[in-house]
Amino acid sequence: TEILNIKKIRADFPILAREVNGKPLVYFDNGATSQKPQQVIDVIDKYYTFQNSNIHRGIHTLSQEATDAYEKARITVQNFINAKHEHEVIFTSGTTGSINLVASSFAKKHLNKGDEIIISTMEHHSNIVPWQMVCEDYGAILKVVPINDKGEFLFEEFEKLLSDKTKLVAVTHVSNTLGTINPVKEIIKKAKAIGAFTLIDGAQAVPHKKVDVQELDCDFYVFSGHKMLGPTGVGILYGKEAILNSLPPYQGGGDMIKTVTFEKTTYNELPHKFEAGTPNIVGGIALAAAIDYMNNIGIHNIEAYEHELLTYATEKIKQIEGLRIIGEAKQKASVLSFVVDGTHPSDIGMIIDKLGVAIRTGHHCTEPLMNRLNVPGTARASFAFYNTTEEIDIFIEGLKRAIKMLV
Ligand code: PMP
Repeated sequence: TEILNIKKIRADFPILAREVNGKPLVYFDNGATSQKPQQVIDVIDKYYTFQNSNIHRGIHTLSQEATDAYEKARITVQNFINAKHEHEVIFTSGTTGSINLVASSFAKKHLNKGDEIIISTMEHHSNIVPWQMVCEDYGAILKVVPINDKGEFLFEEFEKLLSDKTKLVAVTHVSNTLGTINPVKEIIKKAKAIGAFTLIDGAQAVPHKKVDVQELDCDFYVFSGHKMLGPTGVGILYGKEAILNSLPPYQGGGDMIKTVTFEKTTYNELPHKFEAGTPNIVGGIALAAAIDYMNNIGIHNIEAYEHELLTYATEKIKQIEGLRIIGEAKQKASVLSFVVDGTHPSDIGMIIDKLGVAIRTGHHCTEPLMNRLNVPGTARASFAFYNTTEEIDIFIEGLKRAIKMLV
């Protein structure tokens, strides 16, 4: 029983038809960025060909059309994550942009000497460094929830770290390196119980599973367009209305103001208060096209199909001697990290690239996690719903060849 019409889906992604090093491309680096369907590429092309104009300021037709399309895109995002209000959806440059926005504005309002921010061992650098920076500026302390050897969040250790000093808990929904799905709903509930704010890094969750921000009840939820079929340079910050209203703006400039005089400036309402300057207009519009595409397939179908791919690949890869899977959480998204005795991950990556297979190798912007797991880096295959078991077979054969050459 086919969950997806995979042949039809693959035909929507023109890049999947190309060859790399004389072989059909097998693209397993979806954790880094996803490929784009023709439907998204067409929206970008159409925008620059027929619609290009600046938004929120023009009286003329093109500007109004662009503004309408951009604001309609905001509603598409709102519905996709089930935000209560469209102005709770802030367009940013990406997950990194969203976290830096929150870190900066939140710290100004709430962070004092001796306060604590809690993150986890498996965070991406972009959910570590911005917090380190504000902790340094405000004399606050960063606390880190440990993980077990399988790469699972240790909930009891997390509970021990919570105290009346905890101002914010920022954890990833899904680990980009291990695929671990964290129990974010329970994490949020515990954090709220002691009065801490919560931010969830959804960069690796939104492309692969249903996310409902009201059900999660998080204060902030952030993700990137480019990992979910959209273009680079656009991302989302979801924040609860009252909290966003209470925070100071991040950057100053056009669009975020109500009135400006040299004596005093007043700020615009949500969402514009946090959207200074001309945004990535086409990025927002194309992100909505990407969401439409995913909705068409069905996020639950995507999740179920990718789970099958992960199970299939895990079974196959386990049979390779000397190979160790890194990250064996019970709840996992379609990420398969591994190391092979006596080889360096980048050598494996280089050899299978010659066979047309694209995987990522290295620390995956999670150096502290690599240190905790005692590996210098991993090789990582990350699957999307347009991948197939046939591609996994090609990858496994290539992997065996690479290991034979290297060991
Ligand atoms: N968090 C996680 C979990 C990620 O996987 C990534 C991207 N690898 C980021 C944050 C940063 O996203 P971006 O580079 O799109 O800002």
